[in-house]
Amino acid sequence: DLVVVAVDGPAGSGKSSVSKAAARRLGFAYLDTGAAYRALAWFALQRRVDPTDARAVADTLPDFDYRIGTDPDGYHVMVGEHDVTDAIRDPDVTAVVSAIARVPEVRVRLTELFRAIMAGTSREGIVVEGRDITTVVAPDAPVRILLTADEHVRMARRSAELTGHSAATVGEQLRNRDRADSRVVDFMNAAEGVTTVDSTDLDFDQTVDAVIAVVQR
Ligand code: C5P
Repeated sequence: DLVVVAVDGPAGSGKSSVSKAAARRLGFAYLDTGAAYRALAWFALQRRVDPTDARAVADTLPDFDYRIGTDPDGYHVMVGEHDVTDAIRDPDVTAVVSAIARVPEVRVRLTELFRAIMAGTSREGIVVEGRDITTVVAPDAPVRILLTADEHVRMARRSAELTGHSAATVGEQLRNRDRADSRVVDFMNAAEGVTTVDSTDLDFDQTVDAVIAVVQR
């Protein structure tokens, strides 16, 4: 049986880099679900769809041809024949992704896609990372983790990543996105049976160790 490691957490918690490193050490596959929401946001912007028009956003789904690899050592995000690996990190995509992600049809469709990708993995396990993995996408996963960190620590880490942006702007955007996202799914509180890993006082390697310890116990 495939070992699914479900990891949720807010923006700037280190989820992606920690999940990727844990997958690498475990020899597991890795799935970044936020990348799919970002890719759909990119696709909607390309089509000049108003991201706040839920009907119009849902109408793009039949044409959304999305592919992503699950190798933690490097994967490309493809929409049709476009490699959008870098474009989905653009600030204009980040600015509209929460609006895209709150459309119910979008969540249903992408959840189906994530389950299909999980089912198709040839490795022993897969680390799946996002906002609703422990609660909606894989609530029966044998390992479910909520990765948290105090808000000021998350903002400091994120603004260190994004050079050239002021810490105040980065912090404000992070807070706004978390606020919008947590109206749709609760990733600030651990659901029943979910183990919280708080990285506030841990460095990167210690956080990866803590995640691996949960997987191996
Ligand atoms: O993880 P990342 O910051 O790349 O996610 C981008 C956006 O995708 C989030 O802000 C959220 O709106 C959406 N998302 C989601 N459910 C997930 C993963 C991401 O709604 N499981």
